[in-house]
Amino acid sequence: MRKNIVAGNWKMNNDLAQTEALLSDLKKQTKTSNAEVMIAPTFTNLWHAFEATREDDIEVVAQNMHFAENGAYTGEVSADMLKSVGVKTVILGHSERRAYFNEDDATLAKKVDQALTKDMRVIFCFGEELTDRKANNQEAIVEAQIKNALFHLDASAFSNIVLAYEPVWAIGTGETASPEQAQDMHKFIRKTLNDTYGNDVADNMTILYGGSVKPANAKEIFSKPDVDGGLIGGAALKAADFYAIVNAF
Ligand code: 13P
Repeated sequence: MRKNIVAGNWKMNNDLAQTEALLSDLKKQTKTSNAEVMIAPTFTNLWHAFEATREDDIEVVAQNMHFAENGAYTGEVSADMLKSVGVKTVILGHSERRAYFNEDDATLAKKVDQALTKDMRVIFCFGEELTDRKANNQEAIVEAQIKNALFHLDASAFSNIVLAYEPVWAIGTGETASPEQAQDMHKFIRKTLNDTYGNDVADNMTILYGGSVKPANAKEIFSKPDVDGGLIGGAALKAADFYAIVNAF
């Protein structure tokens, strides 16, 4: 089922004390929308965040995971490890993982497979760079990113996938895609799903927008028919701002 979701990607921010402080602020906020709320602290704080939000309407999710079951992968974290600390959803394919850690489509396909094998939900991120947008090539780029990492899956797998369109030029830059640019791309993504998997998959897919979403612009972006919520970076680090976005539906 298509849902409204607002997910906060904390990236590499907040040590334990800062995490405790932000969690305590988040727990004081009131949700007035129907959006599902997710937060993605760094690995070391996942268990603490999970324990601290047990009674709250907040899901704790991971920012990344490895594709292997376990073994000699120094520095990596497996699906079972995440599940053992209460995590059921993982963000995969974030542009920072692609750009700084060389995660390509083939690697991401393996990570998606592993997450789904482990009955986890995936928030799959993708988006074009500024040069692609300037060359008006954004649809081809996004289509390839989605197809290469996801289109080996059966239609039924898509019920455990959330898509997050994050144009790289809008991440952390203060420059958002206009609501129309977001809507156009989300509509294109839904059409791409529809062409291969049909109406059910396309209509039921939750598609988030990410890239400089703020309290001031969230309402207009979320009002677009094919935008089902947001993946929030900077503004997720302040509880009041984050909940202003959560409540912007
Ligand atoms: P900003 O909201 O800081 O632009 O980050 C977006 C993002 O990358 C979320 O994953």
